[in-house]
Order: sequence, then structure tokens, then C-alpha cells
Amino acid sequence: MSETNETSYQVLLYYQYVTIEDPEAFSAEHLAFCKELGLKGRILVATEGINGTVSGSIEQTEAYMEAMHADERFKDTVFKIDEADKHAFKKMHVRPRSELVNLSLEDDINPKEQTGNYLAPKEFFEQMQDENTVIIDARNDYEYEIGHFRGAIKPDIRTFRELPEWVRNNKEMLEGKKLLTYCTGGIRCEKFSGWLKREGFEDVSQLHGGIVSYGKDPEVQGELWDGQCYVFDERLTVPINQKEHVVVGRDHFDGEPCERYVNCANPECNKQIIASEENEHNYMRGCTPECRVHPRNLYINKEHNLSEAEIDARLAAIGEKREVNA
Ligand SMILES: [Zn+2]
Repeated sequence: MSETNETSYQVLLYYQYVTIEDPEAFSAEHLAFCKELGLKGRILVATEGINGTVSGSIEQTEAYMEAMHADERFKDTVFKIDEADKHAFKKMHVRPRSELVNLSLEDDINPKEQTGNYLAPKEFFEQMQDENTVIIDARNDYEYEIGHFRGAIKPDIRTFRELPEWVRNNKEMLEGKKLLTYCTGGIRCEKFSGWLKREGFEDVSQLHGGIVSYGKDPEVQGELWDGQCYVFDERLTVPINQKEHVVVGRDHFDGEPCERYVNCANPECNKQIIASEENEHNYMRGCTPECRVHPRNLYINKEHNLSEAEIDARLAAIGEKREVNA
């Protein structure tokens, strides 16, 4: 009751596979419209459709959804809505792209023609517990690290583009099984599950509405999800499992349970890592020995103005020292 004023913003996550004739022109026009509304966020536009996350006040986001639904192309678009206490982005971008999801396939998949079965959260929850099921996380490894479905396989890849090759190399594990795929909002699975079917797998299903819808479903309430869900905005992660919270994230430096994301302080690396506040200081937020002593390390220079002696002391404490080049 008292927190009604705390959530006067909303974050919308949505996509629609639909033909957009001129993505360049559409993007320019759509950007002007979003700015006029006062929204912030990131929207990708391709001839195959639209994929976006935007934040704004309740009035702004409601006006946006209403305008979208009034357009024949987006009349059925499903918006996943998160309450928030502020914007989740600093700027508003609408960018034309050649494809919404980069699978880098020789022959692209049109999910309107070929895709896996859609499973509602309750069905997905039940099928996950079937012995003959293999659950495949269709996201990147840095997303999996902070949270995933219990028992899900993490393909050993860095980006979505590497997924097809991984599947081909792990065929024995997948053949004859019921395959379940999931991703954040569902858009990646539309293509990935379609691709699995084209690869010859017969029993392929995808979590309809993605992880975020699963977390909001009143029946399953995110059950069997461990950790947090990585999101591509300033929130970085959102909670999913309303029944229990199992931490699966591990500190990059000492392997202890942790759910705190930071970026490597070497601006030329900028890798997102999980680290406690203590280890951020101990390791000067460098993800490797090289990043720790990189001449442009932001932690050392801009943020903390560490003296040479302080740097040496921090390194000594973790059993490292600087290479003397001069
Ligand atoms: Zn680094």
C-alpha cells in the first residue's frame, strides 16, 4: 500500500516478427515518436520485424502500447511489463538491422514458417520435469552464469552465433529427446527452435513469452528458476523465482556465491564479470592480471587515483606484481 508511488515507471519488453517494408525510414520515424513520448530504450528494426525494450512513466508507456496496438502490424504484439522506480536506459535508440537476432545462418529461419511448439509456463514447468527432456538455454554464457532453469544445459559458446555449431557437435546428447528451449523474452527461441527442427530434431518446444513471463505467471511463479535473470538494460538483472532464491552466480575472483555485476576497469576489455565489492577493490576491478595493471585502468586512474605504492600493495596482497618494462 505504501509503495504505490515507488513504481510509477514501467519497463516494456516486446518483439514482433512481421514484415516491415523500409526499416531505415521506419526507424527514423519511430525514434521521433518515442522521443516525443519521452521514452528511453533500445529498439531494433529489420524487414523481419521489431524487438525492443523501453522505459517510461506509466502514462508514456501506456500511450506507446496503445499506439502500437493501433497499427495493424503490431495489433497482437505482447508487451511484458515490469514495474520500476525509474528509467532503465539513459537514451533512446531505434536502429535498423539486417536481422533481429543474429544466428548467422547460411539460410535464415522464418519463425512464422518454422518454429518449435509454444509452451505456456505451466506446460513448460511440467515438461522440464520429464526424464526424457533436455533443457537448452538459448542465451549467452554470461547470461546463464547469473541464473538459469535448474538442470538446463549451457552451451559452451560466447555468442548466439556459435550455437548452431555447438548443437552439431553435441548431437548424441540431444537425439531422441524432448528438447525445450528458453531465452529472456522468447525472441531468440523463435528462430533457435525453428533451426533445431530444420536440423532434424522432431520434438522441439519453446517457452512462450520467455523467462520474464514465466516469472510473472501466477501459477508457476518462476519455480525451478535458480538465480536472477540477466536483462539488457541498466537493471542488469531481475528476480524470477517468487518461491525460493538459490544463488548460482559465482564471484569471478574467488568463486564464492555472488550476484553483483561489474565491468572490467580496463576500458579496452570492459568485460562484465560477477564480483563482490571487496574483490572489486582487491583486484582493482581488472578481470585478468593484464587488465589490473592496464595503463588505462579506470579504477586506478579515474575512480580512485591510486598511487604507485598503493597499486603495488594491492597486487602484493593477491600475490601478483607488475612487470617492470622501463
Ligand atoms: Zn578485463
